[in-house]
Amino acid sequence: MYKVAITKNSTGETRLCEYDFEWEGLDNGADYIWTDGNYSCDCNRAIFFAEANDEDIEHANDLPCGETRYSIPYIELMDGTKIDLTDR
Ligand SMILES: [Zn+2]
Repeated sequence: MYKVAITKNSTGETRLCEYDFEWEGLDNGADYIWTDGNYSCDCNRAIFFAEANDEDIEHANDLPCGETRYSIPYIELMDGTKIDLTDR
């Protein structure tokens, strides 16, 4: 398991979202899903952002796609190591 920092750009609020998979390392492309894959899209990031605070995601399927409303500044491993994703 590791954590993903997701920032809502309109407010600047950052939440740490737990992600229940092993971090395979940047060299193995572990960041791909967050930077170019499914979770690079605002619609999916919005769901993680809401779940981090146990907020209602009933209407999450209505959330529009895009790449401007949320950003992922870093990944945090369970030992506290932070992996900067801002340039990726
Ligand atoms: Zn989308």
